[in-house]
Amino acid sequence: MTTDPTSEGFRSMNDAHRVLVLNSGSSSVKYQLLDMRDRSRLATGLVERIGESSSRLVHTPLKGGEPRERTGRIADHEEALKAAAGELAADGLGLDSPELAAIGHRVVHGGLKFSEPTVITDEVLEEIERLVPVAPLHNPANITGIRTAQALRPDLPQVAVFDTAFHTTMPEYAARYAIDVRTADAHRIRRYGFHGTSHAYVSRRTAELLGRPVADVNVIVLHLGNGASASAVAGGRCVETSMGLTPLEGLVMGTRSGDIDPAVTFHLKRVAGMSTDEIDVLLNKRSGLVGLCGDNDMREIRRRVDEGDERATLAFDVYIHRLKKYIGAYAAVLGRVDAVTFTAGVGENSAPVREAALAGLEGFGLAVDADRNAVRSGEPRLISPDDARVAVAVVPTDEELEIAGQTFDLVHN
Ligand code: ADP
Repeated sequence: MTTDPTSEGFRSMNDAHRVLVLNSGSSSVKYQLLDMRDRSRLATGLVERIGESSSRLVHTPLKGGEPRERTGRIADHEEALKAAAGELAADGLGLDSPELAAIGHRVVHGGLKFSEPTVITDEVLEEIERLVPVAPLHNPANITGIRTAQALRPDLPQVAVFDTAFHTTMPEYAARYAIDVRTADAHRIRRYGFHGTSHAYVSRRTAELLGRPVADVNVIVLHLGNGASASAVAGGRCVETSMGLTPLEGLVMGTRSGDIDPAVTFHLKRVAGMSTDEIDVLLNKRSGLVGLCGDNDMREIRRRVDEGDERATLAFDVYIHRLKKYIGAYAAVLGRVDAVTFTAGVGENSAPVREAALAGLEGFGLAVDADRNAVRSGEPRLISPDDARVAVAVVPTDEELEIAGQTFDLVHN
């Protein structure tokens, strides 16, 4: 080993090349440590049920070593992050390491101001705080995560990567609700969209899969996880997405209704006597697939469909019908579609959902090859026939890698 600090060997040994990605929820913290030289994972972990007596930390070192689990009360985010830092240190990957280049934070709501990943300053943090009224469930937890990480490593760049950023390119006519402009502006009511990090990553990977420049490709991305959203991406820019002011709008999801007539909420209040909070819980937690059939896991729903269960079949049909409507709408928005790409838990794994979503859309140039669709794989792949006018792809999403990449690019250049 050389000790000459001017030599390449020394520099590459000492360059900070790791990024810690933090995703702080209200009662959980997920983390991943990545080595940006080869974009590999060094460790992943999850602290859940923070603040309860049954808190749990699961830490998985990915370069040798078994997953480790710890249970027992973890009082708050600070304790959670310290516990995670302790696990990383035990693997020789401590946060005090000079190899750590930055911490990248997933921040759900960046409003209109943040269209790019942003180094977190006091002003940036204040702006994220100003957005709490439009993201009351998410931004406070993200802020707590940032403050805690700052306290642990005040000298290190901390970067916010916003779930809304990719959608800030939507034209004004797509982002506006047709309601009184003054009221909308006074309360920052407009369509922001979410899952942007995933839509950005997956649309770019789709262009790579097709072997074409991003700027030449129009893609409809269907991010179908427990939360679900669609986006229309023209030449790498998002022009339309299905989530709105909040993640409640759009597709049928695991527990969220997606689109409904807003008058349903007045009806629930006036006729059913429900409070605003009760309606919020109904539409976010007790609707969607779970509301329709009692299950939100697509594997279980498919099992029930195969057994002839009527409620599960209806839930599946409602889910697919909504998806089809969005595919058709986004084909119209884009004018020309080069690819439809499925991603996230359901999109990556459920061949029946992919098949059903595109069934009958041959007129749009869309078709699925049954054998290709049946293949299980963690790799990006095409599932359309060779002669298809529009490519149909499955591209596993990787939000942590995208956050790490954006964070590293920002602090490294
Ligand atoms: P989240 O929105 O929580 O990040 P994911 O993208 O991890 O969600 O997706 C979780 C969902 O993926 C589960 O609720 C389940 O419905 C679905 N899923 C996972 N594996 C399969 C599978 N093999 N077949 C069908 N659906 C699956």
